[in-house]
Amino acid sequence: MSRPPFSGSFTQQEPIPDEAIEAALTVLRSGRLHRYNTVPGDEGQAAALERDYAAWQEARFCLALASGGQAMQIALRAAGVSPGDRVLSNAFTLAPVPGAIAALGAEPVLVEITEDLVLDLDDLAQKAHASGAGWLLLSHMRGHLCDMDRLVGLAEALGVRIIEDCAHTMGARWNGRRSGNFGLAGCFSTQTYKHLNAGEGGLLTSDDAAFMARATVLSGSYMLYDRHGAGPAPDTYADIRLDTPNLSARMDNLRAAILRPQLARIDDAIARWNARHDRVAGHLSACARIRLPARPPQEAYVGSSIQFLVPGIAAEAARGFLAQCAARGVELKWFGAPEPVGFTSAHASWRYVPAQALPRTDRILSGLFDMRLPLTFTLEDCDLIARHILDAAAALPA
Ligand SMILES: *Cc1c(COP(=O)(O)O)cnc(C)c1O
Repeated sequence: MSRPPFSGSFTQQEPIPDEAIEAALTVLRSGRLHRYNTVPGDEGQAAALERDYAAWQEARFCLALASGGQAMQIALRAAGVSPGDRVLSNAFTLAPVPGAIAALGAEPVLVEITEDLVLDLDDLAQKAHASGAGWLLLSHMRGHLCDMDRLVGLAEALGVRIIEDCAHTMGARWNGRRSGNFGLAGCFSTQTYKHLNAGEGGLLTSDDAAFMARATVLSGSYMLYDRHGAGPAPDTYADIRLDTPNLSARMDNLRAAILRPQLARIDDAIARWNARHDRVAGHLSACARIRLPARPPQEAYVGSSIQFLVPGIAAEAARGFLAQCAARGVELKWFGAPEPVGFTSAHASWRYVPAQALPRTDRILSGLFDMRLPLTFTLEDCDLIARHILDAAAALPA
């Protein structure tokens, strides 16, 4: 091996900023961790986060929740999805997405993806017709946005309402509009591996007052919905407060306190992620065996991870390539493995979803590799990592 192996950690995020630690200590010293445990003159950190996030996201309403997965489940319920209903979603996504649909007793209808890792809009139209589904839980998986203008027009024509899973696109835009603002609602995660880090947590945004009132009561607002930072007017709740069950999925003040100073710095973090992503992409684009998903000019992405395809690679060769990279200290994930490994699972492993034939997605996933790019990596780290990947790719069987 001509170069030193890479020795950094692919799962090591940056420390929590001092200002966030101070804010957390203030909450701890107050003892008022529950979001509704406030005193006059102090709105509480959870409500303040909702206000801050709604402003940054350019959404009318925001609700802070316990996780991104809960944000999706609550969004689907608040949208009116009932047991037995069909909900369209990407065949390539993470398990919490079909899981959110299955948790409602609804049935995921999986839609193929394209070589650029986004929803295949022709397959979407066909499956919307065939299934009669009235909703699409759209996962912007690994930060790739489909043609959102075309999708919005298509969904309108099909009578399909869109809920966006923005776990990987917090901060991304299509044609200047923030991901999360294209349909009825946007769902975000503040789990450690996403773009804001509170350990766990979720945010739900919408411009629809009745939807957000239902979501707020679902989240467990104990008739204290007037203590939210970016919620609908109290009269919106007249019937909703009595008609809607409580699922208790609130965010607490401690997590919110940690998140607010991070949100204030997120645009800087996005610029640093993109510098790392583009550095690696620049190296990989020189390799004939590797194909990078297209990034259309309308898309402003957040490069907190990178994906690349080795089209046509056999399973045995893919395993060898992973091992080669691992020996060089480079931790790649492969979406083609038959068994789920960590966060990579393919649709065939979701046994709570009716089995579906998705040949195009299967073919793409068999050659798809993924790598996290935490901000603890320097640009020089990115050079070294990319060169190791290129070395391993050069050793692939022809
Ligand atoms: C992480 C993630 C979620 C859910 O977030 P949690 O906060 O872990 O529940 C949803 N969708 C995708 C694509 C994710 O990666």
